[in-house]
Amino acid sequence: MEHPEHVKHPEHVEHPDRAAAFVANGERLQWHDKSLWFVREKRDRASGVIPEWEELRALAAGIKAHTLSRLADYLEAFEAKATALGAHVHFARDAEEHNRIVHELLARRGITRVVKSKSMLTEQCGLNHHLEAHGIEVIDTDLGERIVQLRHEPPSHIVMPAIHLKKEEIGDLFHDALGGAQGISDPKALTEMARGHLRDKLLGAQAGITGVNFAVAETGGFVVCTNEGNADLGTALPRLHIACMGVEKIIPRAKDLGVFLRLLARSATGQPVTAYSSHFHGPRQGGELHIVIVDHGRSTILGREHYRRTLQCIRCGACMNTCPVYRRSGGHSYGVTVPGPLGAVLAPHVDPAKHRSLPFASTLCGSCTDVCPVKIDLHEQLLLWRGDLGRQKLVPLKKRMASRVAGWILVRTWAYLLLGSIARWFIPKLPKALAQHRWNDWGRQRELPPAPKETFRELYAKRRRTSGKAK
Ligand code: SF4
Repeated sequence: MEHPEHVKHPEHVEHPDRAAAFVANGERLQWHDKSLWFVREKRDRASGVIPEWEELRALAAGIKAHTLSRLADYLEAFEAKATALGAHVHFARDAEEHNRIVHELLARRGITRVVKSKSMLTEQCGLNHHLEAHGIEVIDTDLGERIVQLRHEPPSHIVMPAIHLKKEEIGDLFHDALGGAQGISDPKALTEMARGHLRDKLLGAQAGITGVNFAVAETGGFVVCTNEGNADLGTALPRLHIACMGVEKIIPRAKDLGVFLRLLARSATGQPVTAYSSHFHGPRQGGELHIVIVDHGRSTILGREHYRRTLQCIRCGACMNTCPVYRRSGGHSYGVTVPGPLGAVLAPHVDPAKHRSLPFASTLCGSCTDVCPVKIDLHEQLLLWRGDLGRQKLVPLKKRMASRVAGWILVRTWAYLLLGSIARWFIPKLPKALAQHRWNDWGRQRELPPAPKETFRELYAKRRRTSGKAK
C-alpha cells in the first residue's frame, strides 16, 4: 500500500521550490516569522522561571531513553494494566492496519458520525481520508484543526495547525463554510462562531477519537493534553472512545508524568501547563474504550542507533518555532505531516528519495537542539542525514561536488588561506549580474557584504601583538 504521506502529497517537490511559493508573499512571510518568534520568546520566559529546567530536561531525556531500551516490556505492561481496567488494546503494524482497525470498530457499530480531538498520528495515517472514503463523517474539534479541515489542507504546525492563516482569511472561510456574516475578523467573534458549529457536531457524534500524549505503563491509564477541552467533550458524550497512540508514547510510572507535563506546555506555547490534561483510566461508565497502539515505522527508527533519539519526542513543536528556516518557509513547504527540524529528520526514514531535500532545509544553527525539552540532537541528526543521503547518491551531483571540493579545502589550512585571499580580491570585482545569476543558488537572493581587508587570523595576531605591547 502506498504510504499515506504519498496520498496527501502525491507529487515530489523539493523544499526550496515549495518554500519559494511561501516566500513570494513577503507580508505573510514577515508575519509568520514574527508570530512564531513570539511563541519562542514566551517559551524562553516560561522555562526561565524554573531554576531546575535543565535538570528536568535531562531527567525527561533519561526516562525516555530508558523506556525505549525496554519498549516491548513497557508496552506489554501497559496492555495488561489497561485491559484490567476494562479497555481493549489493539496493536497496528502500520497506517493501513491502524485505519482498518478504527474503521472496523466504527462500522461494526453502524457509526457514521465521529468527532476527533487533535492527533498527529491519525493525520500521519490519513485516517480522516480513509473513514470519509467509507462514508463516515469525521469532524476535527480542535479549532485550528477544524479550520484546516474546512480548507481541505493539512496542518502547517503540529501544535498550531492554522498558524499560517490570518484572522481575515479565517473570517472568509467561516463566511463560506459556516454561513457567518461577511468581513468578520475579530478572534473572539470567530471563536464564538466555531464554538456554536462544533457544539452541534459534538452533540451529534456517535464516537470520539483522541490522540494520546502520555500512556503510563504502571497504571494502564493515559493523558491527553488540549487547550480547548475538546478531548473531554468528544469522549464524554458518545459511548465509544477510540484512543490512537504511537508506540513511543509510553512512560514507565505515574510519577514521571509531572516531569513531562511541566516540560510540554512550557516548550509548546510558553504556558505553565495545558488548560486541560485529561486522564483516562478504562472506559467511562457504560462506555467502551479501545486503544490502538501503532508502530508505523517507529521500530525501524528504534533499530537505527544514531537516529533512535528522535523517538523521545513529546511533540511540543518548540523546534519548529525556533527554526529560522521553518519560520521563513512555512510548514507546508516540507510536504509532510510533521514539518520543521523534527519532520526533516523523521521523513527520510519513510522514503529517503522523496524527502531528500528536507535535511538541507536547515541552517544547522543548533537552536532546535537547544530548545528541545527531551534533548534530541536534531541538528546533528540533520547533518547525519545529509551524509547518508550523499552516500545513497540522493543529493544532486552539483551539491555533492561542491561539498567534496569544500571538504578538500577545509581540511588543508594552506588551501583555505590561499582561497580566502583570492576570494577577498576577486569577489568584490565580480559583476553583480554574475554574482546574483539565477544559476548561483547561494548568491541570487543575497547582497554580498564588503570583503574584509584582513583575515580573522591577521586581526587576531595584530590584537595579540598590541595587547602584548600594552602590558
Ligand atoms: S523534537 Fe524536541 S522540540 Fe521538536 S517537537 Fe519533539 S520534543 Fe519538541
